[in-house]
Amino acid sequence: MQDNEPKLARRDFVKRTTTLLGFAALVAPEAKAFSLTNPGRDSLDKRYIGQEGKRFGMVIDLRRCVGCQACSSACKSENVVPREKYRTYVPEYELGAYPNVRKAFLPQLCNHCEAPSCVSVCPTGATFKRKDGIVVVDSEVCWGCGYCINACPYDKRYFNPTTHVADKCTLCAHRVDAGLLPACVESCVGGARVFGDFNDASSQVSKLLSNHPTAVLKPSSGTKPRIFYIALSGEIQDIPFSKGMLDDSVKKIEGLAPREWASKGV
Ligand code: SF4
Repeated sequence: MQDNEPKLARRDFVKRTTTLLGFAALVAPEAKAFSLTNPGRDSLDKRYIGQEGKRFGMVIDLRRCVGCQACSSACKSENVVPREKYRTYVPEYELGAYPNVRKAFLPQLCNHCEAPSCVSVCPTGATFKRKDGIVVVDSEVCWGCGYCINACPYDKRYFNPTTHVADKCTLCAHRVDAGLLPACVESCVGGARVFGDFNDASSQVSKLLSNHPTAVLKPSSGTKPRIFYIALSGEIQDIPFSKGMLDDSVKKIEGLAPREWASKGV
């Protein structure tokens, strides 16, 4: 989309047809993908296909995370993430009760789920999973209806106030396709974030998965996340989905006073 004119016109169209499209998406979401507004994009553009035969994901070793937020900053810089929005962040939690308290960090990002609920609700096919498992949003096709934002059980999508469409982590697909690591992985000072191909038994992520007990966040969601954690205790596994905790984290990063944050209606 090069200018605002057609986008605004499409938004008006969305408002008038939201109910109808929502129903259509429930009936046959996959059938509409790739054919409604941008035919052939998947067969011509490598960015949409991804790297066939690979299954990308991440293993995060919580024993190595020091909560420095280098990953959050690198991601914002690399992906020009708007202020007050995050594709990845590291909430910190205080666990236990005085005098036996400890601090825990839990890096979070889109889980690039095997069965992503965000994809099945998208009425335009703008959100889809590449053949290498990376879940992306095509900002040229997205109407900004917000279905995917509501459907993500991990609260890992946001409405981008600059592009006016849904946005989230892409595992830095543009870097991965160029043979580079995602920005958060490259910047991780403790080596906590490890990215790789789970289909390759010799990859570091496969070895970590084989050699360590791992867990995913909120397994009950049924979306089969592909971001695995080492040393994820049950004590913190469910915490991040408390709205208060997430807000506290963002509030701390932004340096906002509680009253100021509350005034934003969150
Ligand atoms: Fe979609 Fe949410 Fe899963 Fe990411 S974490 S793939 S946004 S359902």
